[in-house]
Amino acid sequence: MLVNIERHVSAAPRASDGPLPNLLIDGLGRVINSLRISVTDRCNFRCTYCMPEEVDFMQRDLLLSFEEITRFVRIVAPLGINKLRLTGGEPLVRKNLPELIRQLNTIDGINDIGMTTNGFFLKEHAQSLKEAGLHRINVSLDTLVTEKFVEITRRDALQNVLDGIRAADEAGFTPIKINAVAIRGFTEDEIPGFAELARNHGHQIRFIEFMPLDADNLWENQKVLPGREIIERINAIYPIEPVHNSQKEPATLYRFKDRKGGDIGIIPSVTEPFCDHCNRIRITSDGKLRTCLFSNSETDLRSMLRSDAGDDAIAHQVVEAVRNKEPGHKINQPDFIKPQRAMFSIGG
Ligand code: SAM
Ligand code: SF4
Repeated sequence: MLVNIERHVSAAPRASDGPLPNLLIDGLGRVINSLRISVTDRCNFRCTYCMPEEVDFMQRDLLLSFEEITRFVRIVAPLGINKLRLTGGEPLVRKNLPELIRQLNTIDGINDIGMTTNGFFLKEHAQSLKEAGLHRINVSLDTLVTEKFVEITRRDALQNVLDGIRAADEAGFTPIKINAVAIRGFTEDEIPGFAELARNHGHQIRFIEFMPLDADNLWENQKVLPGREIIERINAIYPIEPVHNSQKEPATLYRFKDRKGGDIGIIPSVTEPFCDHCNRIRITSDGKLRTCLFSNSETDLRSMLRSDAGDDAIAHQVVEAVRNKEPGHKINQPDFIKPQRAMFSIGG
């Protein structure tokens, strides 16, 4: 195994040489090709399911620089990573993000760069993100009602987000995916409005079940609005049918039977976990590798990136961590341990 890694890393093969065997295979045979990169833990919102009202953010010198992030991606691309997603915190509070995207786009083997954002800064940045080579944007939006938006984000910014979605659309990021966290007692009334948003604007609306990753420990099982209930509620208003999706994606997709507008996606992380098909790893903004959203241990890559460790040594560390990837999360099981970091600090 070690010999193989050295061959791939040291010989620095290029994508143009043909597809490489993926070296990121975990103990259960899952092939890892997707990396989520958190570029900051900072955010201009304070969503109650994610962040506390008051936060001590990381010192800036602990964050990986663009050069460190780019070097890391150059190391893992030959191992089999071909898909990246930038996240945070709010990725667009990090200055000059298009510059990072430009750097990542030069890396052989990377063929898909996406970003998950709260949408607030998109009006200003959508065009430059497109020009830098960002392929896809997901915007998080949990409600279409101003008062409920203020309640959930602790900020009065619904119109900024809607303007941001329009700007992303105009810049050519189609279809835009809109992510709504599905919370019992909050989301039910939003379902008809979101279904109409999908039908009238062609956006893909994805409902993500509320997970126990909030900073304020508000999560309880009864607060999860199950994906299957959302589907039943939409189907009762606008008939929908499943879409066969050959892509390995956590979202189960449905389309309107009259074929109007965009799809509806359900991400049932709690009630129907998709851990068996997980193809992801994450790097936090402070350079810790996490092999599961719910990991209780991390691999410190920042220390390696800032030492005289060579690329091979870092590659070995990643391969080793992936080999020990957790089989799955244990939400609702007696031995579930909530991760010490909340979602904004992990990078959702
Ligand atoms: N700030 C950006 C945003 O909100 O899109 C990116 C980071 S945010 C942590 C990434 C995604 O995680 C968002 O779609 C957010 O709704 C989701 N999220 C945060 N906390 C969550 C939780 N406890 N359960 C489910 N999804 C959550
Ligand atoms: Fe910020 Fe995104 Fe967390 Fe909301 S979900 S507080 S926008 S990081």
